[in-house]
Amino acid sequence: MHRQGPDKTSTGDAAGREPAGSQPAHPRPERVAGMQRILLVEDNELNRDMLGRRLARRGYEILVAADGHSGLALAVEASPHLIIMDMGLPVMDGWEATRRLKADVRTRHIPVIGLSAHALDGDRCRALECGCDDYDTKPVDMDRLVAKIRSLLEAPRNAAD
Ligand code: MN
Repeated sequence: MHRQGPDKTSTGDAAGREPAGSQPAHPRPERVAGMQRILLVEDNELNRDMLGRRLARRGYEILVAADGHSGLALAVEASPHLIIMDMGLPVMDGWEATRRLKADVRTRHIPVIGLSAHALDGDRCRALECGCDDYDTKPVDMDRLVAKIRSLLEAPRNAAD
Protein backbone atom coordinates (compact mmCIF):
# COMPACT_ATOMS: atom_id res chain seq x y z
CA MET A 1 0.00 0.00 0.00
CA HIS A 2 1.19 3.37 -1.02
CA ARG A 3 1.73 5.73 1.84
CA GLN A 4 2.79 9.30 1.80
CA GLY A 5 4.11 11.49 4.52
CA PRO A 6 2.03 13.06 7.26
CA ASP A 7 -0.53 15.64 6.32
CA LYS A 8 0.96 19.07 6.60
CA THR A 9 -1.35 21.28 4.65
CA SER A 10 -5.01 22.10 4.68
CA THR A 11 -5.14 22.72 0.96
CA GLY A 12 -5.68 20.23 -1.83
CA ASP A 13 -8.97 18.38 -2.14
CA ALA A 14 -10.82 15.28 -1.08
CA ALA A 15 -9.37 13.26 -3.94
CA GLY A 16 -5.92 13.57 -2.43
CA ARG A 17 -4.45 15.82 -5.05
CA GLU A 18 -1.63 17.98 -3.88
CA PRO A 19 -2.01 21.72 -3.94
CA ALA A 20 -0.67 23.19 -7.15
CA GLY A 21 3.05 23.71 -7.25
CA SER A 22 3.98 21.90 -4.05
CA GLN A 23 5.30 18.51 -5.17
CA PRO A 24 5.59 16.47 -8.32
CA ALA A 25 2.14 15.20 -9.22
CA HIS A 26 1.15 11.84 -7.80
CA PRO A 27 -1.16 9.61 -9.77
CA ARG A 28 -4.72 9.94 -8.52
CA PRO A 29 -4.95 6.79 -6.45
CA GLU A 30 -8.73 6.43 -6.52
CA ARG A 31 -8.69 5.37 -10.15
CA VAL A 32 -6.26 2.51 -9.72
CA ALA A 33 -7.86 -0.86 -10.40
CA GLY A 34 -8.29 -3.12 -7.41
CA MET A 35 -8.20 -0.38 -4.82
CA GLN A 36 -10.37 -0.77 -1.83
CA ARG A 37 -13.32 1.57 -1.78
CA ILE A 38 -14.37 3.27 1.40
CA LEU A 39 -17.68 5.06 1.68
CA LEU A 40 -17.39 7.99 4.04
CA VAL A 41 -20.74 9.21 5.36
CA GLU A 42 -20.20 12.52 7.13
CA ASP A 43 -22.32 15.66 7.08
CA ASN A 44 -19.64 18.12 8.15
CA GLU A 45 -18.01 19.28 4.94
CA LEU A 46 -14.65 20.15 6.48
CA ASN A 47 -14.41 16.83 8.29
CA ARG A 48 -15.54 14.96 5.20
CA ASP A 49 -13.00 16.65 2.94
CA MET A 50 -10.13 16.33 5.39
CA LEU A 51 -10.77 12.70 6.29
CA GLY A 52 -11.47 11.80 2.66
CA ARG A 53 -8.21 13.37 1.55
CA ARG A 54 -6.22 11.66 4.27
CA LEU A 55 -7.70 8.28 3.48
CA ALA A 56 -7.04 8.80 -0.23
CA ARG A 57 -3.41 9.46 0.65
CA ARG A 58 -3.34 6.15 2.49
CA GLY A 59 -4.31 4.49 -0.79
CA TYR A 60 -8.07 4.08 -0.55
CA GLU A 61 -10.67 5.02 -3.11
CA ILE A 62 -13.10 7.32 -1.35
CA LEU A 63 -16.80 7.75 -1.97
CA VAL A 64 -18.67 10.32 0.08
CA ALA A 65 -22.22 10.94 1.22
CA ALA A 66 -23.48 13.75 3.45
CA ASP A 67 -26.51 12.14 5.10
CA GLY A 68 -27.69 8.71 6.13
CA HIS A 69 -30.19 8.30 3.33
CA SER A 70 -27.67 9.10 0.59
CA GLY A 71 -25.15 6.88 2.35
CA LEU A 72 -27.52 3.91 2.20
CA ALA A 73 -28.24 4.50 -1.47
CA LEU A 74 -24.56 4.75 -2.32
CA ALA A 75 -23.74 1.64 -0.30
CA VAL A 76 -26.19 -0.35 -2.43
CA GLU A 77 -25.11 1.24 -5.67
CA ALA A 78 -21.33 1.21 -5.26
CA SER A 79 -20.71 -1.81 -3.00
CA PRO A 80 -17.89 -0.24 -1.00
CA HIS A 81 -15.51 -2.54 0.84
CA LEU A 82 -16.00 -0.62 4.08
CA ILE A 83 -18.13 2.24 5.40
CA ILE A 84 -17.12 4.94 7.85
CA MET A 85 -20.35 6.21 9.35
CA ASP A 86 -20.66 9.41 11.30
CA MET A 87 -23.40 8.90 13.87
CA GLY A 88 -24.77 12.44 13.87
CA LEU A 89 -26.23 12.87 10.38
CA PRO A 90 -29.20 14.73 8.91
CA VAL A 91 -32.17 13.06 7.17
CA MET A 92 -31.30 9.68 8.72
CA ASP A 93 -28.79 9.39 11.52
CA GLY A 94 -25.87 6.99 11.53
CA TRP A 95 -27.46 4.63 14.04
CA GLU A 96 -30.50 4.10 11.86
CA ALA A 97 -28.50 3.97 8.64
CA THR A 98 -26.27 1.26 10.13
CA ARG A 99 -29.29 -0.72 11.35
CA ARG A 100 -30.70 -0.65 7.84
CA LEU A 101 -27.37 -1.57 6.23
CA LYS A 102 -27.11 -4.58 8.50
CA ALA A 103 -30.72 -5.60 7.85
CA ASP A 104 -30.24 -5.57 4.06
CA VAL A 105 -28.79 -8.68 2.44
CA ARG A 106 -27.13 -6.48 -0.20
CA THR A 107 -25.09 -4.52 2.33
CA ARG A 108 -24.94 -6.47 5.59
CA HIS A 109 -21.50 -7.94 4.77
CA ILE A 110 -19.91 -4.49 4.49
CA PRO A 111 -17.92 -3.62 7.63
CA VAL A 112 -19.02 -0.36 9.24
CA ILE A 113 -16.89 1.81 11.50
CA GLY A 114 -19.08 4.15 13.51
CA LEU A 115 -17.68 7.58 14.25
CA SER A 116 -18.86 10.20 16.69
CA ALA A 117 -17.50 13.10 18.65
CA HIS A 118 -18.37 11.43 21.94
CA ALA A 119 -15.85 9.27 23.74
CA LEU A 120 -18.65 8.03 25.98
CA ASP A 121 -18.93 4.31 26.50
CA GLY A 122 -22.64 4.62 25.81
CA ASP A 123 -22.03 5.78 22.28
CA ARG A 124 -19.68 2.95 21.57
CA CYS A 125 -22.12 0.38 22.92
CA ARG A 126 -24.98 1.92 21.00
CA ALA A 127 -22.95 1.88 17.78
CA LEU A 128 -22.04 -1.77 18.24
CA GLU A 129 -25.66 -2.62 19.07
CA CYS A 130 -26.72 -1.00 15.81
CA GLY A 131 -24.38 -3.33 13.97
CA CYS A 132 -21.23 -1.25 13.66
CA ASP A 133 -18.23 -3.58 13.42
CA ASP A 134 -16.01 -1.07 15.17
CA TYR A 135 -16.21 2.43 16.56
CA ASP A 136 -13.95 5.44 16.86
CA THR A 137 -14.18 9.01 18.03
CA LYS A 138 -13.46 12.38 16.50
CA PRO A 139 -11.04 14.05 16.20
CA VAL A 140 -9.71 11.12 14.25
CA ASP A 141 -6.30 9.66 14.94
CA MET A 142 -5.37 8.49 11.44
CA ASP A 143 -3.01 5.71 12.48
CA ARG A 144 -5.59 4.31 14.85
CA LEU A 145 -8.41 4.59 12.32
CA VAL A 146 -6.37 3.04 9.52
CA ALA A 147 -5.42 0.15 11.82
CA LYS A 148 -9.13 -0.50 12.37
CA ILE A 149 -9.84 -0.23 8.65
CA ARG A 150 -7.07 -2.67 7.79
CA SER A 151 -8.15 -5.09 10.45
CA LEU A 152 -11.73 -5.16 9.13
CA LEU A 153 -10.70 -5.31 5.48
CA GLU A 154 -8.07 -7.96 5.91
CA ALA A 155 -9.51 -10.29 8.53
CA PRO A 156 -11.84 -12.46 6.46
CA ARG A 157 -10.12 -12.05 3.14
CA ASN A 158 -6.58 -12.93 4.16
CA ALA A 159 -7.49 -15.73 6.52
CA ALA A 160 -6.33 -18.26 3.92
CA ASP A 161 -3.16 -16.42 2.86
MN1 MN B 1 -22.16 14.77 12.00
